Parts: sequence; structure tokens; C-alpha cells
Amino acid sequence: MDDLSRFCCLNPSCSDLGKRGLGNLTVTARYGPGKSRRMLRCRTCKARFSERKGTPLFDARLPPGKVNDVLAHVAEGVGTRKTARLTGVHTDTVTRYTRLAGDHAAERHDELVPFSPQDR
Ligand SMILES: [Zn+2]
Repeated sequence: MDDLSRFCCLNPSCSDLGKRGLGNLTVTARYGPGKSRRMLRCRTCKARFSERKGTPLFDARLPPGKVNDVLAHVAEGVGTRKTARLTGVHTDTVTRYTRLAGDHAAERHDELVPFSPQDR
């Protein structure tokens, strides 16, 4: 049995959009190298989507380890050109993954920290 508690429906028109742990998701297929990636289906809206959708790894051409290497360098403050040299990828690739990771982080921040502490 797959643990899908970290996942939620990503369909903007679904009533369960963004709600985790409802039990509305099922694994309908496995795909990718060694069938290591899961295709998820929402019982509420019937939408199907990759478990990677909405993350920097969705539709990635680089292996996941290489993406992690690139983003680890960027997270440590290493510049784009230095990161490209150290990881062996093109500077445009560094920029693309940095933007994807930034968008993903902003969405998670808005989900997890939606309100500022109120003054007393
Ligand atoms: Zn849904």
C-alpha cells in the first residue's frame, strides 16, 4: 500500500484541491525508469496526474540526483555560472531548475504559512 498522505489533488476545479490525507487519491499506474513513478487519480474529480506534478522534477530531463546537485549548489548561494561548471550542466538549465524550485517553494510557503502572526 502506497503512502499518499503527502499528496493532494492539483486540479484547480476540484473541491478537494490542496487537501492532504483525505484518502481520495489512488495509484492508477506506474511509469518511467523501472516503473518508479506513480500516476495518481483523484476519486473526487477523476483527474489523473503524476506524483511529480508541481515539483521541479516534473518533466525533468536531468536525472533526479543531478537536479538535487544543481539545487543544492544554488541553495548554498553558489552563482549560476559556478553551479553550471561544478555540476556539468548548461547555465540555462541551472536557471530553469532554480525558477521551478522557487515557484514550488513559494507555493509550499503560501500553503504552510498562509497567515502572519496576529498582534496582541
Ligand atoms: Zn480532485
